[in-house]
Amino acid sequence: MKFDVLTLFPEMFEPIKQSILGKAQEKELININLINIRDFSKDKHKKVDDTPYGGGAGMVIRPDVVLDSFNSIKDNKNAKVIYMSPQGKVLDQEKVEDLSKEKHLILLCGHYEGIDQRVLDKIVDEEISIGNYVLTGGEIPAMVLIDSVSRYIDGIINKESVEEESFSNGLLEYPQYTRPEVFEGKEVPDILISGHHKKIEDWRKYQSIKNTFLKRPDLLEKLKLSKEDNEILNKIKNEVL
Ligand code: SAM
Repeated sequence: MKFDVLTLFPEMFEPIKQSILGKAQEKELININLINIRDFSKDKHKKVDDTPYGGGAGMVIRPDVVLDSFNSIKDNKNAKVIYMSPQGKVLDQEKVEDLSKEKHLILLCGHYEGIDQRVLDKIVDEEISIGNYVLTGGEIPAMVLIDSVSRYIDGIINKESVEEESFSNGLLEYPQYTRPEVFEGKEVPDILISGHHKKIEDWRKYQSIKNTFLKRPDLLEKLKLSKEDNEILNKIKNEVL
C-alpha cells in the first residue's frame, strides 16, 4: 500500500517512523511518501497562503500550490484522494477496513483556515474527519488514518489480533491480562489459566458483550445479536441493573 501525504509540515510525521509502522516501512509492506506543499510555492518567501476573500480570521492555503504538489505525484489518477477535514464523514473501523483494500491513497492535510475550495473540488474524492472537533491541521488525522489502515495490511499485525479487536465484530474487546498472576492482591480470572479453550472463548464472549453494554451501549443498538448473544446480554442486564 502506498500513501502519499501532501502537507506543509512533513516534520510532524516522525511518530509513524517508529514502532510497528516503522518496521512495516523497513519491510516495504507500506510506503509513506511525504510531500511538502511549500516546495511548490513560486513566491520568493515560500508563502503558500493568503487572506480569505470576503474577510474573516486566518489564512487560506492557495489552490495553485496544492495543485502543483498534487501533480508532482506519479500515478495520481489511479489513487484515491482524501482530504482530512472536520467536515468529512467520521472515520470508523468499517471505513478503515474498506480503505485498506486500496493500493494507493493520497492524503491532503489542511492547516490554518483550510484550503481554497476550487482545488478541493478538482482533486479530492472524499473528505474524512477523525471526530467532531477541530484540530490545527490535517497531519494528526492523516497519521490516525495511516496507522488504522496499515493494521489491515498483510504482515503488519497478527491477523487474529485484528479480527478479535474492539469494533471488528461490532463489539468491544474483552479485558486482557498478563503476568504476574497476582498483582497487588488481585488475581487473574481462574478461567484464563484453566487451559480450557471453549470455556475461555465463552468467558471472552460474555466479557466482550458486558464491556460493550457498560461502555458503549450505542454499539449494541446497531448490532443484530444472535439468539445466544441476546441471552448473554439479558443475563448481564439482570446482573448489573
Ligand atoms: N475552517 C475549517 C472548518 O471550519 O471546517 C477548519 C480548518 S482546521 C483549523 C485546519 C485543518 O485541520 C483542516 O483543513 C483539516 O485538514 C484539519 N482538521 C481539523 N480538524 C480535523 C478533523 N476533525 N478531522 C480531520 N481533519 C481535521
